[in-house]
Amino acid sequence: AKARGRNGYQFYAPSMTGEGVERLRLEAMLRRSIDKNEIFLNYQPQVEIDSGRLIGVEALVRWHNPELGNVTPVRFIPLAEDTGFINQLGKWVLEEACRQMIRWERAGLHVAKIAVNLSVKQFERGSIVNMVADILQETGLAPQRLQLEVTESVIMNTGDALVFINDLHSIGVGLAIDDFGTGYSSLAYLKQLPVQTLKIDRSFIKDISTDVNDEAIAIAIIQLGKSMNLSVIAEGVETEEQAAFLLRHGCNQAQGYLYSRPELPESILARWHAPARL
Ligand code: C2E
Ligand code: CA
Ligand code: CA
Ligand code: CA
Repeated sequence: AKARGRNGYQFYAPSMTGEGVERLRLEAMLRRSIDKNEIFLNYQPQVEIDSGRLIGVEALVRWHNPELGNVTPVRFIPLAEDTGFINQLGKWVLEEACRQMIRWERAGLHVAKIAVNLSVKQFERGSIVNMVADILQETGLAPQRLQLEVTESVIMNTGDALVFINDLHSIGVGLAIDDFGTGYSSLAYLKQLPVQTLKIDRSFIKDISTDVNDEAIAIAIIQLGKSMNLSVIAEGVETEEQAAFLLRHGCNQAQGYLYSRPELPESILARWHAPARL
């Protein structure tokens, strides 16, 4: 901001700074992104480490704008959360992900499970169980094949999250705790929650063979999952070494660049659809 006049008058209001203008422009473009068909999904395979078998995919949202190019979700998800657009976006993502499961099925690829990320803001407006139930009904996807991913902070910071999560469980939808170990870890809630899966955060996997603390944390999460009868999946697995470590310590599920980057649905089909043998 520029100082002007005798009293150091601020000529530019904060919202008029370059950054503010840029943000408003981004917000406006984001709001129109769905209608303009700029939003689409990538899918990242989740695999069984020892067999290499596909056990599921995670849907990851993408935004390609003709002017801005590709905008990373790390940038636009927080913006969508601030503006409330996340509710519309989250619904679109869930619908598209469920529809895609049916399309793959028709094309001959059975993907057992699809994981979809939910934002904390989607819990703040009230129960989302009706939205989820409607989408499942509409698309015909069995609830057991949908797994919703929420972070620890969703659970700890949302007053009614427990109620909503129980609602979702009651219609048969699965629940995974994303980025496990990075949030407030009150382990007490794990007991009360109908969760099936813990996802070990990538930050603990990254230096697994060099950092003894990360190793200890990864092992502890695997053990915790085991003793609570939860399945544990490691995210961000990039090397054979990391995969071998996980397997050695009793974690047989992974997701990461070692197996596949997030891909378009056609690529998933091409890679994982085994054509009938003649
Ligand atoms: P996340 O849910 O933890 O997703 C995993 C992120 O790690 C993805 O980034 C994925 O592309 C990336 N990743 C996967 N394997 C590897 C690996 O081996 N190495 C490295 N370095 N990275 C890997 P992406 O797609 O950029 O998404 C970032 C975050 O944006 C997600 O983190 C999630 O929090 C959020 N997000 C993405 N899609 C959605 C969505 O549909 N709804 C909501 N609410 N959030 C989403
Ligand atoms: Ca996730
Ligand atoms: Ca994650
Ligand atoms: Ca993460």
